[in-house]
Amino acid sequence: MTRDEVVQRAREHGARFIRFLYCDTAGVIRGKAVHIDILGDRLRNGVGLPIALQGLNILDQLQPVENLGPVGEVRLVPDTSTFHALPYVPHQAALTCDFLDSDGGPWALDPRSLLRYHIDRAATRGLGVQPAFENEFTLLNRTPEGQYVPFDQSPTYSAAGMTNAAGFIDDLSATFEMQGLTVEHYHPEAGPGQQELTIRHADAMRAADNQIIFRETVRGVASKHGIHASFAPKPITDQPGNGAHIHFSLWDAGFNRNRLYDPEALYGLTPLARSFLAGVLAHLPALTALTCPTYNSYRRLHQPRSWTSAFTAWGPDNREAAVRVASGLWGADGRTVNLELRPVDPSCNPYLALAGLIAAGIDGIDKELDPGEPVQVDPATLSNEDREARGIRLLPTNQMEAMLALRADPVMMNALGHELAAVYLAVHTSEYAAFRRETAGFEIQHHLLKF
Ligand code: GLU
Ligand code: MG
Repeated sequence: MTRDEVVQRAREHGARFIRFLYCDTAGVIRGKAVHIDILGDRLRNGVGLPIALQGLNILDQLQPVENLGPVGEVRLVPDTSTFHALPYVPHQAALTCDFLDSDGGPWALDPRSLLRYHIDRAATRGLGVQPAFENEFTLLNRTPEGQYVPFDQSPTYSAAGMTNAAGFIDDLSATFEMQGLTVEHYHPEAGPGQQELTIRHADAMRAADNQIIFRETVRGVASKHGIHASFAPKPITDQPGNGAHIHFSLWDAGFNRNRLYDPEALYGLTPLARSFLAGVLAHLPALTALTCPTYNSYRRLHQPRSWTSAFTAWGPDNREAAVRVASGLWGADGRTVNLELRPVDPSCNPYLALAGLIAAGIDGIDKELDPGEPVQVDPATLSNEDREARGIRLLPTNQMEAMLALRADPVMMNALGHELAAVYLAVHTSEYAAFRRETAGFEIQHHLLKF
């Protein structure tokens, strides 16, 4: 879409303000809105933002990182292909943006530019990644006393739950259709008030942009219905958490052939798929810092029999394995077989999560790694000796361990680049320090409202 077409579409939608959105280092979606009368100019030149904003944690505390002080601006420049209306608020639309530095080049702290860099690296190997985030979220009502309580108590997959949420789900799906996201499945999930609605896969940049649109739209439509939707990884401590498993497949450059799948091969996986998978497992403790980045993320992982995965294991249709080989649709395996990364939750920055996933997989391909034998049981039921013999490691058990695992992994640190890695670690270790001093209630409240 050209800039003129964006302005025209914004006018057709009656938009007065157009949000220029980005996802920050901490995973929070932020932005600045531009009035329709100056949109044409700002689409070209972007809007200025202080560089230090990428040093905020989820408590809005600025971290003192080198070169991220009060001096300096970056430009938030929209990708015109991401224009979408926001029908849940009056007269607004939105675009997702790149950060450009003062020379007009990609800024080292820009998550979107980083993802583009890793998409290009995959492309030079003839590969296109097609991911989709499979989001879970919790619907809550606010009591007159200001408490957030589950919207309903319906059982998982229940028809009663579908009826309870029908008005909201209908409005939500209609909004996605209008925004150009393809809705695939919906069901009431296992926890009270928990829902799952899936969106069709797309190329990696579009999938990350879709995740921004998804989080914003779910929360916006819920709010229009007088309810609160939360993507906090664990909004209710003793109930199932919210995952955002990443399903992905690898395609040739023309998106004609799923290069993961070979019907003749063991478990249907090509050597390329096995190497990519092995790279993901090899770097998984560090990757978890990107896919499960918040303090609250670690209340979700490591819960027995909660299907969140706690170990670096893989297996065909194994929902306690960190990577599940998801079987395809009958007669369409070539198109639909995919890998599902399960230690992922919706508090992640989707650009960084996908950049990390691609970088880990590429490392596996370049080094021709092999993932070893799949696990056909819950890896938690294996003995320590058994897991050790199979090379299965425990994932980080808290936010700090995850950041240390990231710092200890040169491939993943390199994948982020020196500057972004430094800010990422500073932001998340500051959250660890802040939340571990506080009560669980404080932690839940903040994650519940920010995500
Ligand atoms: N709620 C689980 C999670 O936190 C996933 C349940 C499922 O397999 O859909 O990842
Ligand atoms: Mg689910």
